[in-house]
Amino acid sequence: MLRIFPVDKLESGLEIMELKFIDIHTHSHYLRQDVIVVQNVFPGQDDQLVNGKYFSVGLHPWNIEKHTMDDDIEWVNAHAEARNVVAVGEIGLDKSIDCPWEDQKEAFERQLSIAETVNKPVILHCVRTYSEMLAYRKSKGQKTPWIFHWFNADIRTADELIRKNCYLSFGHMLFKESSRAFKVFRSIPLDHLFFETDDAGYSIDEVYKQAAYLRKMDVNELKGYIIANFNKCFGL
Ligand SMILES: [Zn+2]
Repeated sequence: MLRIFPVDKLESGLEIMELKFIDIHTHSHYLRQDVIVVQNVFPGQDDQLVNGKYFSVGLHPWNIEKHTMDDDIEWVNAHAEARNVVAVGEIGLDKSIDCPWEDQKEAFERQLSIAETVNKPVILHCVRTYSEMLAYRKSKGQKTPWIFHWFNADIRTADELIRKNCYLSFGHMLFKESSRAFKVFRSIPLDHLFFETDDAGYSIDEVYKQAAYLRKMDVNELKGYIIANFNKCFGL
């Protein structure tokens, strides 16, 4: 079993030493004693679903094909209830790809309703579609927390999402000073943050170190906040 310390137990130095990193989004199958990994798995990747790890399952907008959509979503539905599947995702909407908008919307909405049914958070892929997603969340009264992976938008968008019980996940963009993610990062409330590797070239240690540096914090202090967020978001 993974041992997770709530933030109110942070007084003891020993427990601080034991705090784990959390990698909220990666596609690679890696195991480390000091990292809680939420590995993303696509429909059909059953061989990746092993014991002792956490997963998210979802049909990514890049992989949507009209003729396989029903089977893929059925696969997500069949796996979403598994105990070590902690989230539905990554799913989303992407205006930079050729996949027809109607198909993207259909896959997105069907998987959101799976998440609502199993009452698990959603990990979102969002490219130039923040306003559409926010409008959808408001209109449908979605209750499960949403985690925007690779968050990269302005502070107004961040504020609106946070007010709607969304979390923002940061990774390699924290190393790109020109990115919107870099510019807003210092203003994001600590209780709505996650970090990720997303196979983008930086380890989770490097991401936390950079984040702690930018927030003028200690890495262990940051770990405490993220673990508390994890426990709250995933109801653990
Ligand atoms: Zn990803």
